[in-house]
Amino acid sequence: MVRFRLRQRNARENSRSPFIRPPNLAMSSGSREKALDDYLEFLRHPSVSATGEGIAETAEYLRDLLEDMGVAARLENTGGHPVVFGEYDAGAKKTILVYNHYDVQPVDPLNEWKYPPFSPTVEDGHVYARGASDNKGTLVARLYGFKRLQEEGKLALNVKFLFEGEEEIGSPHLADYVRANAKKLAADGMLMEGSGIDSKGRPEIVLGVKGILYVEMRLSAGTRDLHSSSAPLVENPAWTTVKLLNSLMSPDGRVAISGFYDEVEAPDDDVKKMIEALASETDLEELKSSLGVQELRFSSPREALMALYTEPTCNLDGVHSGYGGPGSKTVIPHEAVAKIDFRLVPNQDPYKIFDALKAHLENRGFRGQLINMGPEYPARTSPRSPLVAALVDSANRVYGKQPLLVPNSAGTQPMWVFTKLAGIKDAVSAIGVGSPSSRAHSPNENVRVSDFYKAIDHTYEFMKAFQALPRAPLPRRTFSRNLRSVLRPRSSTPRAPLQPPAGTASAPTATPAPC
Ligand SMILES: [Zn+2]
Repeated sequence: MVRFRLRQRNARENSRSPFIRPPNLAMSSGSREKALDDYLEFLRHPSVSATGEGIAETAEYLRDLLEDMGVAARLENTGGHPVVFGEYDAGAKKTILVYNHYDVQPVDPLNEWKYPPFSPTVEDGHVYARGASDNKGTLVARLYGFKRLQEEGKLALNVKFLFEGEEEIGSPHLADYVRANAKKLAADGMLMEGSGIDSKGRPEIVLGVKGILYVEMRLSAGTRDLHSSSAPLVENPAWTTVKLLNSLMSPDGRVAISGFYDEVEAPDDDVKKMIEALASETDLEELKSSLGVQELRFSSPREALMALYTEPTCNLDGVHSGYGGPGSKTVIPHEAVAKIDFRLVPNQDPYKIFDALKAHLENRGFRGQLINMGPEYPARTSPRSPLVAALVDSANRVYGKQPLLVPNSAGTQPMWVFTKLAGIKDAVSAIGVGSPSSRAHSPNENVRVSDFYKAIDHTYEFMKAFQALPRAPLPRRTFSRNLRSVLRPRSSTPRAPLQPPAGTASAPTATPAPC
């Protein structure tokens, strides 16, 4: 009942809200054509980071495109593929940093493409090409949203563009680059890539990411495998590994490493409300079928989503030792390797977790190698930040519906390099052109042209809303109508949960680099 009354009140308030006024989407058709032309031209430039194909030319093309828009742009050395950095100084007090990547995944298998992957083709209102969704369409749409505001003389926001060329190979140089350029990248907010449109046509706003610690654990004894008749005499590293791995988890599924949960930030009311709203349209049967499993560890959508978004995990990725081939072989393996990932939630520190893991294992006799292969911090921005308020407001106006607010991705993305190394407090994944049918990373990657235009409008409206807001923090009541409305539980038909929502690499349920 309470919920019902709240909804009625929201409906009345929204009808009066100045934020729900019809959008001014009067971008001229000539400008739209030019935006689409540039999008297609960008797609004609191969930029495969895995092989290096076309990377240098594409980076130069992008720098020139920025300069044509009046943005001071240059290529910056990272030790790998260059970053394209652009800066537009509007003489404003506020600054936004826009992150995208210009590299793409390899195109194989080539014979499954309807059109050559670097000959973009528009058919039935869709653009087909490698990179159409991940991430060139979003990049160009954001540029054109910025350009429109600037050309109308309404831009009161400094804009910095950081276009990376190594996202699809795990961003190996991004942290060092950001650390070395922290001052230059400073901003009041940041737009990451990785979100898009869900199956109901709602724009997604993903407020953070889980962090990760990826470790390799190696144990060895002796120099060679032995006949198993020696089992009474020697240690078997496979057994030792199994016992050590078993000690990492309690029977109730909790991680048993001392101190593992000490710094976990308990989900606040906003996070709980976002999860309630998502749970209200999540069907566990659909979730099971999308995961291809018979059983889940949870019986209610709320519990499942709470765990998915707010619980840290210890996952065993693989264990290798000894003989696993056909028939039998009586052998004592001399080596065992286990790979383990820990997905971390806000406030956990991957380096501290690594130390805690090492102490846990060593206290149980582990004398092998423990290799820290990929530490990344978690990140989460408050839905009450000016950045999110502006995104929610502008999404309402452009899409005519409430956006989908997700407290954080269940996967990992290098958002922390901006929040921690460049000190940008508010960073979110929002404004993207991809949809669940965009086939990112696959043959026939595509984007609806209408979604490309909407992302231009969303960027334009977002920048206008963001520049008009105080820097931070927002008074609690500011934008509370739209926010309350977004956070309320929905009772509409369940959406297919956990499908790759944006058709991009970094969608909430994707498992991005490094693991
Ligand atoms: Zn990708």
